[in-house]
Formats: sequence, C-alpha cells, structure tokens
Amino acid sequence: MSRTVYVNGNYLPEEEAKISIFDRGFLMADGVYEVTSVLGGKLIDFDGHAKRLQRSLGELDMATPCSTEELLDIHRALVEKNALVDGMIYLQVTRGAAGDRDFAFPDPEQVPSTLVLFTQSKPGLAEDPKVAKGISVISIEDIRWGRRDIKTVQLLYPSMGKMMAKAAGADDAWMVEEGAVTEGTSNNAYIVKGNKIITRALSHDILHGITRAAVLRFAREAQMEVEERSFSIDEAQAADEAFITSASSFVMPVVEIDGAKVGSGTPGRVALRLREIYLEESRKAAR
Ligand code: PMP
Repeated sequence: MSRTVYVNGNYLPEEEAKISIFDRGFLMADGVYEVTSVLGGKLIDFDGHAKRLQRSLGELDMATPCSTEELLDIHRALVEKNALVDGMIYLQVTRGAAGDRDFAFPDPEQVPSTLVLFTQSKPGLAEDPKVAKGISVISIEDIRWGRRDIKTVQLLYPSMGKMMAKAAGADDAWMVEEGAVTEGTSNNAYIVKGNKIITRALSHDILHGITRAAVLRFAREAQMEVEERSFSIDEAQAADEAFITSASSFVMPVVEIDGAKVGSGTPGRVALRLREIYLEESRKAAR
C-alpha cells in the first residue's frame, strides 16, 4: 500500500515524492535524521527527538527547516494520513540542493534545507518476540568519525556492522574503540552487575540516545544504581546481564556476546523490568 510521505511542505503519495540529484544529503551525506516511534497512534519521546534534532542542526551550522510545533503537526498528520498505529516516523533534514556539486556549504539564505518525513508501519512494535529470547551481538572495531554525537545520515559503517553480524549469525554488533565498547550499530549498550547499570558516559564518541536518557532517569527514580563509564567486551561477557536501548527497540536484552553467554544466557531481570517501566511511562507521556 502506498504511503503518504512529506517532502518540503507537501504531503504526497510515496511514488510522487522527489528530491534533486544535487541534494547534499545524497552527494555528501550532509544531513541529519531522527526516528520517533509510534505506539497506539501516539508519538513516543517526541520532545527529546525534536531537541536532539535542533542540536544536530546547530552543530553542523544547518538551518532549522521549521519550528518544533510545526514538526509535531507534520508527525501527527503523517500518523493520521497513514492510519499508523505502531511503527516509526523517519525524519531527515539535509543542507539542500545548490544545483551543482561543491564541497563548500551553500548560503542557507539562497538554498533551503530539504525536509523529508515518512512512516514505517510495524504492527506490534512493543511486543517484539525477540524480547523473550534476547539478542546476540558480535564485537567489531569502531572506525566511525569523531562526532558520533551528531545524528548524521552517514550510516555506511553501521550498515556494514549489521552485515558483519548477519554473516556471523548474530543479531547486531557492538563497536569497540581502544578496548572499550562505544555503542551498538543503532543503539546504546549497557551491562548490569548486581543491581548496577553500567553504560558509557556521554561524549562525542556516542550518540546521546533519547531512549538512554529516559531509561537512566527511570532507573534512578526506581532507586537502581547507574554508573556512566566505559566497559570492555571481557567485562560485558562476565556481567550478569546486558542490553541495548533505542527508539525502535526500546530496551532489548542481549544474551550472547561474541559467542559467550551473558549470565544465564536468558534475558535479565533488570533489562526486562526497565523495558516494562520505559514502555509504561513513555506510553503515558506519549503525544
Ligand atoms: N546509537 C546509535 C549509533 C544509534 O543510531 C541510535 C539510534 N538512532 C542510538 C544509539 C539510540 O538512540 P535513540 O534512543 O535516540 O534511538
């Protein structure tokens, strides 16, 4: 079934949506994105995603295409036009199309940014059967650029990481730099030791996950101990539990790392509890 998508002010059938071959998103990966999940027709953590988008745009001196209120209206219109119940809304802003290829940024007064949004329907998104079994990950070297805190569309290496995981019969890959895990290909990484939740501290090395922020807040509110520090694959393999967070997987238990079982090799109590709290609280706050 054809979706209704949004391109620069227009709602169009997906077949009719077009952007220029000179768009800098296409030529230079000069663009940023956000993925907001939708549960029961409502937006999860919209404010967090809108705020991070502003930050990504600011860090790259890219113009803001419209106000946060307008963005919210577009998200809601797409949910309605596509009768979306569970799934995601993908949003991308690029530095636009200057009519030729040039490394220098075009003048934002002359070249408007490109704004594209589309829906992805995932019925039962919050009831993923993988939660009951947990997922397996492999470790790979993190060879990405040094500003992973900016959510750019440069996703070639994370895509390669997913393919390396697939080739190894695993679900995903955790990236490792100087002996420490940075993050998953499209998620933040955690381990649990006793009642302590350990995850890498925020810096330019990782994406500042919106789900991460919410989950750590809920964990602290539930009197769980949180330690923001780096950890190695060895430490993760010896941990009681491991898990990942992202806007589309929420909290997902990790039960195997490089072929070694984590804990009992089944989803951990802390991860499952955090998933429950996260889903309950963010559904309540959904817009
Ligand atoms: N790290 C990376 C590299 C990601 O691509 C993502 C998902 N976009 C995340 C972490 C998780 O971020 P969020 O919780 O905001 O989806």
